[in-house]
This record gives sequence, structure tokens and C-alpha cells, in this order.
Amino acid sequence: MAIPGGQLKRGNLIVVSAPSGAGKTTLCRMLCDRIDGIEHSVSFTTRTPREGEQNDIDYSFIDVDEFREMINRNEFLEWAEVHGNYYGTSRIRIDEKRGSGADIIMDIDTQGARQLMEKLADATYIFVLPPSPEELESRLRGRGTESEEVISMRLRKAREEISDFDRYEYVIINDSLEQAVEELRCIVQARRYGISSIDHDRIKEIFLKEDV
Ligand code: 5GP
Repeated sequence: MAIPGGQLKRGNLIVVSAPSGAGKTTLCRMLCDRIDGIEHSVSFTTRTPREGEQNDIDYSFIDVDEFREMINRNEFLEWAEVHGNYYGTSRIRIDEKRGSGADIIMDIDTQGARQLMEKLADATYIFVLPPSPEELESRLRGRGTESEEVISMRLRKAREEISDFDRYEYVIINDSLEQAVEELRCIVQARRYGISSIDHDRIKEIFLKEDV
């Protein structure tokens, strides 16, 4: 669905990063259910689907050879290796969605976000923090599915990711999920009035055309 404001608007790119366990996937999903005109970017990944995950809805699941071919064909806007698997955002998918005027929310790791920061200055960069290190650890353990070794690897990686927080424009502390979604919604809504959300050429064409 298009953004209210129609043909004068351009879709925004909203980039959300967080250490694993901070709740960003849930936050992004809740936001998309709550407001119109925003779509979740579907990434490509080489990891195996988790129970309940659907191909081309949660991720597009491909094998390592296919992923490498996509890298060679320069089809990714950004890509990274996270926890031993590859993840990447398709350039074409983003261009198509943006062309429709919708905002796009991307849930990607800090390595991918760094790549985007270098090329897309007008995207909105948001970092989600857990309320405390203790809470992060308990959320990671709470899933109950991972071994001790995997948990300590995730904690190390979380530390590494958190060290990037000051590269982002916004920080949301996910203490209460409800409040965090509301904060995310406010940021996305506010960006829709920003100068980068306006189709400058279209405005010039419609309002500033010289009379002949
Ligand atoms: P998970 O496998 O738990 O869904 O995701 C693991 C990590 O990969 C998360 O931090 C997630 O944000 C990140 N991720 C998901 N898609 C992409 C992507 O397209 N690019 C990058 N760089 N990271 C991604």
C-alpha cells in the first residue's frame, strides 16, 4: 500500500540493527502490522529455515553457491556473514519496492548497516538496545534451544554489535515491547515529513513549471 501523500512522496529506507536477543525482528513485524505504507525487506540467506519460517516471506533461502553467484553478479545492496551463514539484501527488490512509494524496513546486522551508511546517506538508521546486559543474556538463554558454546558466541557477537551503536541516528531501548514499537512508529512517521521523503523532481514539475 502506498504512503499517504501519494505521488509527491518517496519511500524511505529504514535500517534497523540490534544484537541478537534485543527483539528487533518482533519489533519490525509489529510495526508493519500497525501502520500502512511500510513493507519488510525479505533478505536472502544460506541458513536453514527455522520451524514455521516460509520461503520468500521470512527469507529467501538459497544455498552457498547461489549466494556466491549473486555476489559475483553484484546483485546485493549489502551482504554479510553472520553466525556462519550469509545474509544479503537484493538491490532489485529494494529498488522495486521503493519505486512503489512504500517505506521499507530492513532488519540487518551492523556489518550490513555500515555498508549502507557509506552509500545511502538518506536512509534512516536505528539501533535497538536491550535494557541491560543481564536481560540480553537471559533473553538469549530464554530461547532454550542453543548450546552454551552458541550462547557465548552470541554474547561476544552482541558486544561487538553494540560497540557500533553510535554510528546510528536513533536508539530505541527495548524494555517494554509495546513502548519500543510505539517509539519505532514515531520515528518512521516523523521521517515521512522529512525532506528526503519528498519527490523533489515531481514537486518542481507540478508546482514550479514555467508557464509557456
Ligand atoms: P536470524 O538468522 O536470527 O534471522 O538473523 C541473524 C542476523 O542476520 C540478524 O542480526 C539479522 O538482522 C541479520 N540479517 C538478516 N538479514 C540480513 C541481511 O540481508 N543483511 C545483513 N547484513 N544481515 C541480515
